[in-house]
Amino acid sequence: MKFADLATYFEKIEAVSSRLTITSLLAELFQKLTPLELEKTVYLLQGRVVPAFQAIEFGMAEKTVVKAIVSALNMEKAYFDREARKMGDLGKTVEFFKKQFLSFEAKDLTILETYEALYKAATAHGDKSQEFKINILSLLIRQLDPLSARYLVRIPQTLMRLGFSDMTVLDAYSWMLTGDKSLRPAIEAAYHVRPDLGYIGRILKEKGVKEMANIQPHIFTPIIMMRAERLSSGEEIIAQIGTCAVEPKYDGFRLQIHYDKKSGVVKLYSRSLEDVSLMYPDVIEGIKKQMSADEVILEGEAIGFDPATGSFLPFQDTVQRKRKYDIAEKALEIPLKLFCFELLYADGKNYVHTPFIERRKCLEEIIHTTKDISKDTVLIAPHEIISEGVKIELNFEDAIARGLEGIIAKKLDGIYQPGARGWNWIKFKRSYSSKIEDTIDCVVMGYDAGKGKRTDFGIGAFLVGIYDKTKEKYVTIAKIGTGLTDIEWREIFAKSQKLKVKSKPSVYEVEKGMECDVWLDPYLVVEIKADEITKSPIHTAHLALRFPRLQRFRDDKKAEDATTLSEMESMFTGQGKTK
Ligand code: ATP
Repeated sequence: MKFADLATYFEKIEAVSSRLTITSLLAELFQKLTPLELEKTVYLLQGRVVPAFQAIEFGMAEKTVVKAIVSALNMEKAYFDREARKMGDLGKTVEFFKKQFLSFEAKDLTILETYEALYKAATAHGDKSQEFKINILSLLIRQLDPLSARYLVRIPQTLMRLGFSDMTVLDAYSWMLTGDKSLRPAIEAAYHVRPDLGYIGRILKEKGVKEMANIQPHIFTPIIMMRAERLSSGEEIIAQIGTCAVEPKYDGFRLQIHYDKKSGVVKLYSRSLEDVSLMYPDVIEGIKKQMSADEVILEGEAIGFDPATGSFLPFQDTVQRKRKYDIAEKALEIPLKLFCFELLYADGKNYVHTPFIERRKCLEEIIHTTKDISKDTVLIAPHEIISEGVKIELNFEDAIARGLEGIIAKKLDGIYQPGARGWNWIKFKRSYSSKIEDTIDCVVMGYDAGKGKRTDFGIGAFLVGIYDKTKEKYVTIAKIGTGLTDIEWREIFAKSQKLKVKSKPSVYEVEKGMECDVWLDPYLVVEIKADEITKSPIHTAHLALRFPRLQRFRDDKKAEDATTLSEMESMFTGQGKTK
């Protein structure tokens, strides 16, 4: 297919907001593509050339994109800038000017040709790379038609934002094959194991839906992480899963580790599947030193450790290791210990469906440890097999006394469920004075400009919501205007600036009284602590939080990982139960 035809789809998709219409447009487009075209198109639709977990970004600021544009159009920068400011959109401005002139270099490029050029630009690095990127983009602008140019210039600025999520693409895959959503569960299960939308699409097109059951973990493609259910007493845990393995719940950050001994490459992925390898050189060294398998995918929790006292550091200290600068210095100041608790793949064998207790045995076999915490960076999370509720309570009290967050009980024959929150893992956390056991992860949907003292911060209150999985919409649960420090107000304002959108995203359900001055794309996740959940007529969750306050920013979570409405509803019915 020609890129110009793809651009007409970009335009159609951009013009509609109904999820159903977008799904059917995508399905229609996918039907027309070859398997390889489909793979690459899906990346382009997301404004990328590789899946999101691969840290390949164009690294072109608006200024540089403008350079490519004015060189392609052979026009004065000041004139272009003036017009672009008036139109408020680089893409539309380029389109406007391209319509005025005929280019001698016009060429009806295919999707694959355009993709290849963009891929070269994105992967260029080194001294002359900016110049190289500008040249590629500039040539493409000269070659492509006006509408294609509109979308082309949005890609290197990561401004594609066509307003749909990975889940819509999965629906569209099902529609492409059957004209309805019926294949989504099978496709989604495969996507949880290998969340590379392009790859999944290509395989579907090449081999059909049957092949989805054979999708295997793949080294350097992070598996969507499993999550834990929650309960608040040892007795409830035993009633739910019987005799279980009880592990400490470390309050650090979760890492999924991919290691290939032959190439010596270790990659670390965060919960939101971001490649965070550069941040933790000490963990990488530890893995290389202590791992006996040749190719492995495992998971663990990294937590700061104080060698002087031999104790774990609170989350506020551990989180300082999450940084882009002064990494080596901080690593000396706050060394990390990685407590491994899962083995998902090793040397060609997929462990995802192996019962927990067997996975764990293999995990112990492939990691060499001295069992001396002061010597090893990589350790195995200790566990105790327990069959009585009271013993779980004792284990829990002991964990709390050691400054940990609580415990995680694991079902002995439970499989690893990629992407699911299931009963194979149950978390039992310290219950604070409030009636709600757990914190709530909310998406920041918008904010109101500051009044009074807060004019300084630019933000006075922000609207938060949770995810209604059934409707695939975000519903509101609180507007928060107090309880943040000055630093936190500034931080939330700064984080919001990149996410601003002109109007309320169509995936938001908001009552009139809760509308915001500024709307944000669903991206920023905050962990909120509250005293109570109450019924609410003004929030679209029909529930509200009493005395909500910011606990921390959850940069490791995606918007779809926010607490779901059904989880909130069960917290609402469960609240007040004492443990
Ligand atoms: P929370 O906010 O309660 O930490 P979460 O929303 O980040 O939870 P959950 O799946 O609900 O994620 O809780 C499990 C988290 O606990 C894991 O993501 C992991 O980061 C952490 N954790 C700490 N110790 C363990 C352990 N021994 N086994 C599994 N997960 C552990």
